[in-house]
Amino acid sequence: MTKIAFIGLGNMGSGMCANLCKAGHEVRAFDLNAEAVKAAEGHGANAAATVADAVKDAEIVVTMLPAGKHVLAVYFGDDGVASHADTGALFLDCSTIAVEAAREAASKAEAAGFLMADAPVSGGTAAADAGTLTFMVGGPEEAFAKAKPILDAMGKNIFHAGGSGNGQAAKIANNMLLGISMIATCEAFNLAEKLGLDAQTFFDISSTASGQCWSMTSYCPAPGPVPAAPSNRDYQPGFAVAMMLKDLHLAAAAAKAAGAEVTLGEMAEKIYQDLDTRGHGGLDFSGVMKDLRGGL
Ligand code: NAD
Repeated sequence: MTKIAFIGLGNMGSGMCANLCKAGHEVRAFDLNAEAVKAAEGHGANAAATVADAVKDAEIVVTMLPAGKHVLAVYFGDDGVASHADTGALFLDCSTIAVEAAREAASKAEAAGFLMADAPVSGGTAAADAGTLTFMVGGPEEAFAKAKPILDAMGKNIFHAGGSGNGQAAKIANNMLLGISMIATCEAFNLAEKLGLDAQTFFDISSTASGQCWSMTSYCPAPGPVPAAPSNRDYQPGFAVAMMLKDLHLAAAAAKAAGAEVTLGEMAEKIYQDLDTRGHGGLDFSGVMKDLRGGL
């Protein structure tokens, strides 16, 4: 049993927090949204009224927040985690944030005498609820070893990607690939359709040929071949366009800072930006297919 503070009980954090409680850990939960704290209480967590209250006696502080500015403010702002946590506590941020922000947070934590790891996740709210997330962890070996048992309670695949920020690097590189491959899959199905193939026929051929990829076989953007895919419920998410766009912005900024060429990543960013600007940020990211078919 570990004493855990959990901060950020939104779409993802609520299920993750519930799974830590289910695994027998003693969790103190905090969110700016009182309703979210109440729901966490219903899953077995102790309600905390402030960050200071949440981190009291905690051995591990887990955060699942929207973006880098929230993470830096919650840990290092006035009355933040670092001002109140016990020395020796591990800071474990599971939010998706910029590589640079994760490295800045880790060095601030180190300067204040704390261990910190970035541990962004792959898998959406269903995986958060089911405890089957993939975690990509960046940070010192000692931080990874300490985090591993509680990550096991929230996830299925836990990877140590290297030093601070490397978890975020793995996450955004993976999601850039996903964004590109989804658009490519939509274009291929649309082309096949316009050339006279129905979606199932093209799927049967391409999913066993060299065009096969996760976007096709697990998340087919054309309705029919993969029944659980959002394409079969008029592209309700799933993984929303706005979320993919956030990750592509992070990838583009990281690529610029690192001097890496990401021509297709930038094209994918433009395509999702266009959908978002036209008011489709809440659509599933495979909704590119609907747009290509003239349905938006
Ligand atoms: P969300 O907006 O549903 O939840 C964020 C929570 O943080 C909210 O409840 C909010 O009230 C709380 N919060 C914000 N500022 C706070 C503060 N200062 N103190 C305490 N609580 C605060 O977001 P989400 O969908 O749960 O996503 C969280 C993170 O996980 C994001 O970085 C996102 O990119 C990443 N992520 C999301 C998904 C997904 O499918 N939703 C998948 C993978 C990764």
